[in-house]
Amino acid sequence: MSNIIRVGVLGFGGLGQAAARLLAPKSEMRLVAAADHKGYIYNPEGLDTQACISTYNQQGSVGHVPEYGVLSQTSIADLIANAQVDGFFLALPNLPNTFMADVTRQFIASGWQGVLVDALKRTSAMEQILSLKDEVKNAGITYMTGCGATPGLLTAAAAIAAQSYAEVHSVKITFGVGIANWEAYRATIREDIAHMPGYDVDKARAMSDAEVEALLDETNGIISLENMEHADDLMLELAGICSRDQVSVGGVVDTRNPKKPLSTNVQLTGRTFEGKIATHTFTLGDETSMAANVCGPAFGYLKTGVWLQKQGLTGIFTAADMMPQFVK
Ligand code: NAD
Repeated sequence: MSNIIRVGVLGFGGLGQAAARLLAPKSEMRLVAAADHKGYIYNPEGLDTQACISTYNQQGSVGHVPEYGVLSQTSIADLIANAQVDGFFLALPNLPNTFMADVTRQFIASGWQGVLVDALKRTSAMEQILSLKDEVKNAGITYMTGCGATPGLLTAAAAIAAQSYAEVHSVKITFGVGIANWEAYRATIREDIAHMPGYDVDKARAMSDAEVEALLDETNGIISLENMEHADDLMLELAGICSRDQVSVGGVVDTRNPKKPLSTNVQLTGRTFEGKIATHTFTLGDETSMAANVCGPAFGYLKTGVWLQKQGLTGIFTAADMMPQFVK
């Protein structure tokens, strides 16, 4: 039996396509399945990344890829039923805010067993996932939640940084994202708009593309966010590192320039056992894209999930509970 981990990607927009490109040269994982809202594709021998990306961008769905693509209004359910997959990366929009929990219920009801990884952002969305803990465990699923960049890589970095301290006083996450155009990451940008004053998830979801563009015209393409509802707070509280009100997340997104408007970093301040107050700072390289910092950790955690599952460990774990393993 092969040790190659068979991977599926649900959602084939900005992050789903980046995930496919990132996996292409890997030897330990093989992308065999992908779904978008109009279709899916499955080939146990592995997907042709370029064909999937160009077909999706030209025709709107991987379901149009010759031979292996299937058009479907129930692509996720069909893929779960038809594909042999060890782990799925859920690169889906969480719009409405209950969508990811609904997809999780779909996996539980189907009887599928394997590893799920998400890059979920909102605290309230992760609370819904965590409320399914017993069902996920009993279904034989190992679910890694909050495994993107923030939450994800930066939350895990905070969990490591906490080790120097007897008491953690604050965790401050500041992200800078630069993308050339907002259409490449529609869900990410709508979900960010939902954090702006005067907006919420339902309002952002209901906005037409033209309305999003008009809003971005007003702000010169910049979205500045403070005190966001981000699940890093819940994850660090659950890991016993600090209380959620000690965690803050904010950032700046430039939707018209791939250069980051500021360096993404996490600062953790605490008191050592000798009574010294200090701050650890972990800063991401400016050249690393959002896609690299989300998809890299997502598959690192997928590998960790497979490792846990081989030991019979099912249930829900966050990025702050576990270290991501490195995918070769
Ligand atoms: P996107 O809008 O570019 O793509 C979404 C994809 O999902 C599309 O292919 C669409 O067809 C598909 N889809 C939508 N509804 C579907 C359905 N019912 N069934 C099957 N497929 C469906 O999205 P994106 O910008 O790549 O963002 C994906 C998610 O990643 C968002 O929820 C975003 O918040 C999250 N994200 C997390 C982080 C992090 O650091 N944690 C960072 C960035 C983005």
